[in-house]
Amino acid sequence: MIPSHPGVPTTIDLTGKTAFVTGSTRGIGLAIARAFHGAGAKVAVVGRDTERARSVAGELGDRAAGVACDVAVAEQVEAALSAAESALGPVDILVNNAGLTRDNILLRLTEADWDAVLDANLKGAFHTTRFAIKGMMKRRSGRIINITSVVGLSGNKGQANYAASKAGLIGFTKSVAKEYAGRGILANCIAPGYIETDMTSGLPEAAKATLLQGIALGRLGRPEDVAGMALFLASDLASYITGQVLVVDGGLVV
Ligand code: NDP
Repeated sequence: MIPSHPGVPTTIDLTGKTAFVTGSTRGIGLAIARAFHGAGAKVAVVGRDTERARSVAGELGDRAAGVACDVAVAEQVEAALSAAESALGPVDILVNNAGLTRDNILLRLTEADWDAVLDANLKGAFHTTRFAIKGMMKRRSGRIINITSVVGLSGNKGQANYAASKAGLIGFTKSVAKEYAGRGILANCIAPGYIETDMTSGLPEAAKATLLQGIALGRLGRPEDVAGMALFLASDLASYITGQVLVVDGGLVV
């Protein structure tokens, strides 16, 4: 006789969950916000521009709220999180997606370029996580999904600051995963390869063509490719995965 077994869910349902997705006014974050909302979650759309955050939330419809903060500024993050929780309920899923680049070769990289990138990409995740995790601990449940980059694994010419911020985010995630697993909180990273968004739109066509040659699947990534992985990591399907870096790059780094 086959023993009874809970089985594998064949659909993803985030009904009743609240997600706080930083940098979700465009690009990858917006695709993640749409995917979560489509799966039934309540979604806080977060960016630095209040009007834009509210208008994107309005486009999602019910179960969405737009809140503004610069993730690098602790007081703004705390206020945005509290506004989101007042509107939508306690945050169950935190996605640290907000990020920026200030590319230059090391010898021309200024201290301001270094600080801007580390503050948004790494310190931002520290702020959101330490505020959001308190409620998750009380409820003994939570998902933290940090958007790093393949560059955080492999390094990249002209991106010492960005690669350092993304590598730092991986170490941060693994530490949080170990520290809070006992409280039912899972923390993972997604490392996208080259995804077509505003962030990458400035890359010259020749550089794009060269990059394409290195991608096994032969195409650049779409924000939805990353959103699919985020949806999986937020779902019951991923309940035995923590402290990992899931690469979504079409086979760029194999
Ligand atoms: P975009 O530039 O298209 O969007 C960035 C988002 O982050 C915007 O919503 C922006 O909103 C927000 N943001 C930026 N800085 C801050 C800040 N200090 N505080 C709050 N919000 C902020 O980027 P992508 O969608 O391409 O990238 C999203 C994430 O994915 C980033 O972390 C990036 O490093 C990472 N990534 C991207 C890859 C790619 O190829 N595109 C590859 C690998 C990783 P606003 O300007 O309104 O504040």
